[in-house]
Amino acid sequence: MARLVMKFGGTSVADIDRIRNVARHVKREIDAGHEVAVVVSAMSGVTNQLVAWCRDAAPLHDAREYDAVVATGEQVTAGLLSLALQSEGIPARSWQGWQLPIETSNVHSSARILDINGAEIVKRFKERNREVAVVTGFQGVVKETNRVSTLGRGGSDTSAVALAAALTADRCDIYTDVDGVYTTDPRLVPKAHRLDRISYEEMLEMASQGAKVLQTRSVELAMQRGVRVLVRSSFDPPDLGGRPTDQAEQLGTLVCHEDEIVEQNVVSGIAYARDEAKVTLLKIADKPGVAAQVFGPLAEANINVDMIVQNVSEDGRYTDLTFTVQSADLDRALEVLRKAKDSIGYLDLRGSTDIAKVSAIGVGMRSHAGVAAQMFSALAEKGINIEAISTSEIKISVLIDAAYAELAVRTLHSLFGLDSR
Ligand code: ADP
Ligand code: ASP
Ligand code: MG
Repeated sequence: MARLVMKFGGTSVADIDRIRNVARHVKREIDAGHEVAVVVSAMSGVTNQLVAWCRDAAPLHDAREYDAVVATGEQVTAGLLSLALQSEGIPARSWQGWQLPIETSNVHSSARILDINGAEIVKRFKERNREVAVVTGFQGVVKETNRVSTLGRGGSDTSAVALAAALTADRCDIYTDVDGVYTTDPRLVPKAHRLDRISYEEMLEMASQGAKVLQTRSVELAMQRGVRVLVRSSFDPPDLGGRPTDQAEQLGTLVCHEDEIVEQNVVSGIAYARDEAKVTLLKIADKPGVAAQVFGPLAEANINVDMIVQNVSEDGRYTDLTFTVQSADLDRALEVLRKAKDSIGYLDLRGSTDIAKVSAIGVGMRSHAGVAAQMFSALAEKGINIEAISTSEIKISVLIDAAYAELAVRTLHSLFGLDSR
């Protein structure tokens, strides 16, 4: 007998038929003798609608009320799935964040989970014939204020991993609309192939560089707490085509420690993000302290800066500075910099969202030189101009014109031998 957390994303619970399908996946594990807690997302499109309503009601909305609205999507799915499970003859009960509780920090709309009390769920596994707990993803409660909070878009993945850690589950299965983690987004590159395994470090870079298959925070948490995460498809037949459930790990991608992976390419995957924006300050003084005057006010306004490039100054007096922020923060960043114009001293300020960031990721880069050079010359051959570069030990990212994003992803995917044969 194992203890499992099974998480189902929006497309997997998009309508009542799909919720029934999810119930059958859960039934398979119950029939195999396992204890199961399920984490559900809102039905596909629901969270987007709720967010749009908040924006419509008040563009500069109160984050606590935003959370009160957007957390409702998951409540509906948890109730519906519990009903579907009961119809299959399986004891099931829904749980919202405040009921367990799932305690979070007080940062509304992007709260972090601090603690989950799984005692009642475990008690019911024992006392009520393995009653299935159906837990709302994405939401929790702020202890000091007793108000509902949410974890940021895609946050149900993090709810699932945190619950798996709290329940000391044997595995956390993330069921989605693809059958695992691919070498790049399979919707963009049909030649992408599924990875059998990926290390926590690589998955963390993939997620933070734009592969939305797992929320970045969920990977961070899985790595910290040693949770085995299996990304798999809810569109596989619930009876797994007759395969035994203990072969499940072969049906998806296991996110695990690097030393559990035998074969390793230099580059494991290519990620891309279109949600960054570029800010350029023209003709700022080339002297100590100017960068602090630019980035200090941005930090105070809670705006995260990603890539930074400063041009070499031709005359030793003036230079240009370019950096990226999340597109959603662009207007605020420009506003902050306009206000600080006198203290910074620049000639002109420009913002643009027509950019994309493309990244090559692989732990093999630690021991292989020349990956960056290969990458830059392949992009140059296609006439793609690189506007900024950033690197980590296992990642190289380039900023390019958004129009070339797809071409760049395909080019790098072939270059590093990732195309399926
Ligand atoms: P869910 O609603 O189940 O949480 P998401 O839409 O958040 O699902 O994540 C799944 C999607 O992530 C896939 O449909 C796919 O288009 C996208 N994706 C991006 N990069 C990758 C990748 N490297 N591997 C698999 N899927 C990816
Ligand atoms: N429903 C939330 C969202 O759409 C959380 C999730 O699906 O993970 O962002
Ligand atoms: Mg998701």
